[in-house]
Amino acid sequence: METLSGQKVSSGIAMGQAIILTSEEIKVQEAYVDESKIELEVKRFRRALVKSEKDIKKLIGEQDQVHVDVGRIIATSLDFLADDMLSGAIEGAIREQRYTAAYAVCETISTLTEQFKAIDNPAFSSKVADMIDIEHRLLNHLMGGRLNRVQKLTAKTIVIADDLTPSQAVTLDRDKVLAFATEKGSWASHTAILARALGIPAVVAVPHVAHLASIGSQVIVDGDAGVVIVDPSEETRKRYLEKRKRSRRSTVADSNIRRQPSITRDGEEIRIYCNIETKEDVPRVKKYGGTGVGLFRTEFLFLGRQTTLSEDEQYEVYREALEGMEGKMVTIRSMDVGADKFDRRFNARNEPNPFLGERSIRVSFRHTESFKTQMRAIMRAGIHGKVRVMFPLIMDSGDMIRARALIAEARAEVEETGVPFERDLRVGAMIELPSAALNMEALVQHTDFFSIGTNDLTQYTLGVDRLNHRVSNLYAPHHPAVLQLIKHVIKVARRHGKYCSVCGEMAGEPIYIPLLLGLGVRNISVAPPSLPKVKRMVRSLYLSHCHHLADAALRASSADEVMTLLEQGSSK
Ligand code: PEP
Ligand code: MG
Repeated sequence: METLSGQKVSSGIAMGQAIILTSEEIKVQEAYVDESKIELEVKRFRRALVKSEKDIKKLIGEQDQVHVDVGRIIATSLDFLADDMLSGAIEGAIREQRYTAAYAVCETISTLTEQFKAIDNPAFSSKVADMIDIEHRLLNHLMGGRLNRVQKLTAKTIVIADDLTPSQAVTLDRDKVLAFATEKGSWASHTAILARALGIPAVVAVPHVAHLASIGSQVIVDGDAGVVIVDPSEETRKRYLEKRKRSRRSTVADSNIRRQPSITRDGEEIRIYCNIETKEDVPRVKKYGGTGVGLFRTEFLFLGRQTTLSEDEQYEVYREALEGMEGKMVTIRSMDVGADKFDRRFNARNEPNPFLGERSIRVSFRHTESFKTQMRAIMRAGIHGKVRVMFPLIMDSGDMIRARALIAEARAEVEETGVPFERDLRVGAMIELPSAALNMEALVQHTDFFSIGTNDLTQYTLGVDRLNHRVSNLYAPHHPAVLQLIKHVIKVARRHGKYCSVCGEMAGEPIYIPLLLGLGVRNISVAPPSLPKVKRMVRSLYLSHCHHLADAALRASSADEVMTLLEQGSSK
C-alpha cells in the first residue's frame, strides 16, 4: 500500500481500478537516420502509409456506426493519403534532410497545417483537422501504437495521468470516470475545473502517482484530504467505505437546500448562476437550482473533436441549451482556446509563452470567420430563449470595439439569409486582465455587462501561472491586489447600472463568499455541484459583517493575512 499526498481540487471519495493515461500529444523527437538507412526508413514510412489506408478503409466499412463528422474526415483522409504530393514531400524530407520517418511526418504535416491555419476560411480549418487525423494515424503505426484513445473507457475507472489536458479530459466518457489523480496540475487548471463541474473527486500534483499505480491497480482517491492510496490494505478499504457513506449523506442534505432562496440573513438576494462546459450540463443547472447559466465555456465543444462545428451544428447546441434553461439566462462565452486549451486548428505550436500569447479573443481576431460563425449561430439560437454573449481575455475597450464590429458583420450576414434571430444581442466582457479592470471607465461605454474571471485575473495580477504546481502556493485569488481590482470593477459597473458577476472558481469556494459579498458582488456563477455549499454560506451571512471583512482584507499586506481573516471569520 502506498499513500501519496497531493493538492485536493475536487471533493469526494472514489475507489476502483486505475487506468493510466499517457500524454495526448505524441512527442516526436527531432531525429536523423544514417545515410545507409535512408531507404529502409522510406520503406517504413510506406508501410505505415499502407496500414493507415487499410485502417481508414476498414472504418469506412463500419461507416454506419461512425459519427457523421468522423465519416467525412476519414473519407478526406484517404484522399490525402493517396495524394502523391503529401507522401512525396514526406519521402523527400527523409531522403534530403535524413529525418526519421516519424519526424518527417511531423515536420511536413506541421508546415502544411500552419499554412492552412494562416488562411482565415472554414474550409481550410477542416483541412487542418484532416491533416491532424492523418498525422495521428501515420505516427501510430510508426511509433508502435502508442496513440492514446482516451475515449475508450470500458468500465468505471479511476483515471491516473502524468497530466491531463482539457481536451483529453473532455473526451473521456463522463459516466465511466470515478476520479482523477495526476502528477501535474493545479486548482485553477481546466482539468480541475472539469472535475468540479462533473462532481468527481480529483487530486493533482501527486508525485509519481502515474508510476506507482499500474493499469488495474486498486486505488482510492480522497478528494477531501488530497490523498491517493495505491493498493490499499483491507483495513484501509473498509475505513474508506465508511467515509464514502458519510460523504454521500451530506450530498442528500445538499438537495434539501435547492428550494430555499439564496438570500443573506439580512435579506439581500445573491443570484447564483452555473458554469457549464457542454449542453449536457444543462439538466444539472436545473437540478441544483441555478438562476441561469453564467458561463458556457463553448471551447469544450471544439476541443478534442476532429472537426470544427458548422454554424448549423452550433445553432443546434445553443438552441438545446436555451430551450433546456426554459427562459432563464444563458451567458455564452465565445470560444476560448489557447494556452492549456490548445487546439491545433487555431493555435500555433510552440508559442514561447502561450498564456501571454495568442489565446482567447486574440484567436478570434485572427480567425474572424470562425468567430462570426459562432456569433451567427448564437443570434439564431437566441429566439429560443434568453441569451447573451461575452468574450474572454478582453484587454481594453479597443478589443470590445473590434469584437462588436465583427458582431455587426455577423448580424448583417444572418439578416441576409432571412432567418429569424435575436437582434438585440447583449454583449459582455470578461475581466481577466488587470488592464481591463483598470480600463473599466472606457470599457463600460462599449459593454453591456461584465463577468470577472478570477482564475485568469489572479494569474495575471500576481504573475503566477495558474497551471504550475511549483508556484501553486503563491496562487491566491484572495490576494489584496486581486481584491482591489474586483472592488474597482464592481464599483464602476454598478455606477453605470451594468450587470457584473464573478464566474471564476473563487466564487465556488464558500470561504471566499463573505469576502466577495463584502466587495459588492451580488451575482456569481459556479460549477453546479458547488451551488448547495455556496448557497448555504450565503444564507448564513450578514452583509454588514461581510463589508467589515472586505475592508480589512483590502487593507491587508499579503494573501496570508487575508486568509487568516477569512479563517477567523469562518470560525466565529
Ligand atoms: C477565469 O479565468 O476565471 C474563467 C472563468 O475562465 P477560464 O477558467 O475558462 O479561463
Ligand atoms: Mg479565463
